[in-house]
Amino acid sequence: MAVAATGDYDDSNIFARILRGEIPSKRVHEDDWAIAFHDINPQAPVHVLVIPRGRWRSWADFSAGGSDAEIAGFVRAVGTVARALGLEAPGYRLLANAGLDAHQEVPHLHVHLFGGKPLGPMLVR
Ligand code: 5GP
Repeated sequence: MAVAATGDYDDSNIFARILRGEIPSKRVHEDDWAIAFHDINPQAPVHVLVIPRGRWRSWADFSAGGSDAEIAGFVRAVGTVARALGLEAPGYRLLANAGLDAHQEVPHLHVHLFGGKPLGPMLVR
């Protein structure tokens, strides 16, 4: 079910539980600012989620309240994961859903990283 992009952070959301290690995930990267793991329902041959460690719901929320170090660390982690997965040369797509119109399902900021095949048009028309 889609969630609104606004409101208090919900510490029981599934990614908060993955961050706390309460739910297993297939991690491909972790550092001080972010973790990355395979999506449980992949939409492409490579479908990885990169999430900040901090309690942020959306990109707007994070960019307004996150520290410079936290934001830089997260953005760097996204690039590190793309490189580590060998996606620089063939290419890849980043996507961050926020709120109801984008059908965000998990209210913890995450960037989807898709790759491994030609990805087609950006949006369904
Ligand atoms: P959203 O629609 O919020 O942008 O995407 C949420 C993503 O989280 C979906 O692609 C969904 O498959 C993924 N997801 C939901 N629950 C889990 C889980 O427990 N583990 C993993 N690895 N991915 C999950």
